[in-house]
Amino acid sequence: MALSEFALIERYFSACGARRSDVILGIGDDAALLAPPPGSELVAATDTLVAGVHFPPDSPPASIGHRALAVNLSDLAAMGARPAWALLALTTPQADEAWLAEFAAGFAALARGHEVALVGGDTTRGPLCITVQLLGHVPAGSALRRAGGRPGDALFVSGTPGDAAAGLALEQAHLSAPPAAAAYLRARFLRPEPRVALGERLRSHASACIDVSDGLLGDAAKLAAASGTGVELDYQQLPLSASLLATVGDPRARELALGGGDDYELCFAVPAQAVARLTSELPPEHWRYARIGTLTASSGARVLREGTVMEFSHSGYQHFG
Ligand code: ADP
Ligand code: MG
Repeated sequence: MALSEFALIERYFSACGARRSDVILGIGDDAALLAPPPGSELVAATDTLVAGVHFPPDSPPASIGHRALAVNLSDLAAMGARPAWALLALTTPQADEAWLAEFAAGFAALARGHEVALVGGDTTRGPLCITVQLLGHVPAGSALRRAGGRPGDALFVSGTPGDAAAGLALEQAHLSAPPAAAAYLRARFLRPEPRVALGERLRSHASACIDVSDGLLGDAAKLAAASGTGVELDYQQLPLSASLLATVGDPRARELALGGGDDYELCFAVPAQAVARLTSELPPEHWRYARIGTLTASSGARVLREGTVMEFSHSGYQHFG
């Protein structure tokens, strides 16, 4: 690399993200030293983005930096955790300074927005690939899990699923849309806003939670399976954005909401008797979530349209499917 590895880390990553007083030792030594709050449990997640698999290789570098952290923030949100410290393993074909500056800026803006400090990582040469490890914490015993839902629990989703899948199709020129709708949908793919604040608040409401990354129907089915229940989704209740509807029309918008990936929203279950408290403490208009279905005693995932079960050939994106 033209720029030495040391100079590159110093220039782009040593002050990337928030400063936190619980970072005893950050970038520069062999490992970071962190001080989780007393009485908390550490929550850890990692996700890899591979060029050409998880994003088009020519995506804006700031979007790649944003998404590399966002996908991990979404995992911590699903646990009800507060994110705090990140490590970044970056493999890149060359030290392209303009690319690195934009990548680091995209990562840093989202990190600061969530008070996440970048405390270490690794930098290597090779095909473009980014792995972020994110650490956070929850009060001991309070984390949300996929397991914990019971038959009869109401099921909710945040945001408007399907937008990001349409945004990716627009990025890849597989779809066209009116300019305002195209800008909105592209941003939903390029700069997802993980529901960290909602996840933390859901600790005192939800019985189970998962983040929606591989398609709502498939991810709701995973929550249900982990909870030992089934799930019924109401086709008519899926929350759809006006931009998605304007771009692909009604049946296709619902298919994308059920099966499209990259939403980074939360899908969560709430016991029936706790729904009134949820909606009064976390007004759905403000927190932007909607009821989409119910957990059931019989296993499996079903989509119902006016009470009739619909058939779907495919319920989510699978890398090794
Ligand atoms: P080592 O060989 O001991 O693993 P490195 O030279 O790889 O050390 O890294 C030096 C320091 O820089 C370490 O603190 C490491 O965590 C940090 N670091 C390396 N690459 C990155 C990166 N892409 N982002 C953040 N920190 C990094
Ligand atoms: Mg070392």
